[in-house]
Amino acid sequence: MATRKTVLITGAAGFLGSHLCDRFIKEDYKVIGMDNLITGDLRNIEHLFKLENFEFYNHDVSKFVYVPGELDYILHFASPASPIDYLKIPIQTLKVGSLGTHNLLGLARAKKARMLIASTSEVYGDPNVNPQPEEYWGNVNPVGPRGVYDEAKRFQEAITMAYHTFHGLETRIVRIFNTYGPRMRLNDGRVLPAFIGQALRGEPLTIFGDGSQTRSFCYVDDLVEGIYRLLHSDYAQPVNIGNPDEITIRQFGEEIIKLTGTDQKLISLPLPTDDPKQRRPDITKAKALLGWEPKVSRSEGLKITYEYFKSLPEKEILHKDF
Ligand code: NAD
Ligand code: UDP
Repeated sequence: MATRKTVLITGAAGFLGSHLCDRFIKEDYKVIGMDNLITGDLRNIEHLFKLENFEFYNHDVSKFVYVPGELDYILHFASPASPIDYLKIPIQTLKVGSLGTHNLLGLARAKKARMLIASTSEVYGDPNVNPQPEEYWGNVNPVGPRGVYDEAKRFQEAITMAYHTFHGLETRIVRIFNTYGPRMRLNDGRVLPAFIGQALRGEPLTIFGDGSQTRSFCYVDDLVEGIYRLLHSDYAQPVNIGNPDEITIRQFGEEIIKLTGTDQKLISLPLPTDDPKQRRPDITKAKALLGWEPKVSRSEGLKITYEYFKSLPEKEILHKDF
């Protein structure tokens, strides 16, 4: 009988981390989740606590990280990810991308584990080319408000690549584009939960700027499949994973109005500083290297996500903490 592989997933109680825990449990791994719950919620993984092949550590990975026993893989997903989160906790965001990544690379080296980091389309900043291929170096304002996230992630990529070339560590870098699905926090400020929350509470949907900026939304199951394949590939350079189906934020608002049947309208608020004007992944590499492409259409994914948000307790839907 093959021995069970062990994977450490940081950010396990968050949106993406919790779905990754589910996937690796399904594939019969031993999963060690780690999270300090700064933006996560234990309810996302409470169904795993009864399993003998799941363990959880409440720990801040920006401090020294230790886990006993063998580790085959580390997936570093701990980091605030929504603009309102990382603007609220900018220093922790910089630390988890830099010190946290350094700690985990050290752990990966000690355990001879393969490490995959969650990078982001934000490394391209406000891009001057569309769609964005991995070769594009980006257009980031290091001292603007989003710099705390973008530069943490760019440093994270650089130090990961340095461990790969200098120490020969096995590393993988996924550049994740806007992903959505069940377990996002209704009040995390990202556009999809913001619009659905507003529709459920009977409030107007807030478009930032004139709504002509674009995004390309990927359903979480597609993303997890891409990450799973990348981890098991032999490719150490960054790979974009996202859905190239690009839409303006105004059209997206209209889709949410239709989906939810709300009688509310779109209203305009000021555009945040350095908000990228366009974003769409070039997924040529993911297709060629991993045989991966997204399968879930936006209309299917949005239906599932809306059902999830509708099923939350009413007091959670009504509560706004930003
Ligand atoms: P999330 O906020 O739901 O999850 C992040 C998790 O990390 C939370 O549970 C939080 O408590 C935990 N965390 C934060 N700092 C920590 C620390 N110092 N120590 C331990 N745990 C810590 O966000 P998400 O959407 O699930 O994003 C997960 C990862 O994916 C992040 O690294 C993010 O940058 C990356 N990413 C996400 C998207 C997306 O569209 N969701 C896009 C690009 C990149
Ligand atoms: N946005 C918006 N209304 C909101 C929240 C966000 O119009 O209530 C816009 C935001 O300005 C950005 C896009 O939607 O142009 C996506 O924002 P999100 O925070 O989801 O992700 P990111 O900017 O990191 O892609």
